[in-house]
Amino acid sequence: MMDSGMIGKIVKAKRYAEERDRISFDTFRANFKGDHSSYIVSYEGGSWRCTCGYFAQRGLCSHTMAMERILGVMVTPAMMPEAVA
Ligand SMILES: [Zn+2]
Repeated sequence: MMDSGMIGKIVKAKRYAEERDRISFDTFRANFKGDHSSYIVSYEGGSWRCTCGYFAQRGLCSHTMAMERILGVMVTPAMMPEAVA
């Protein structure tokens, strides 16, 4: 049986989950399964990293950009070239 305290926490959690600007990631590391290979995407203090070859050349890639789309306001976007911004 749930007490009223727990019910209040669940209601609050639902509201918080809709208010993503309350959350900002400092660091994380994720496995990303691409079409051909898997890569490790990581984020530390506003800087992105990915183990794919494209990232090594350009400093951003489809994997980091996908993560940015998912995480939205909770992360700082990698530098986007003006042509595609
Ligand atoms: Zn990548």
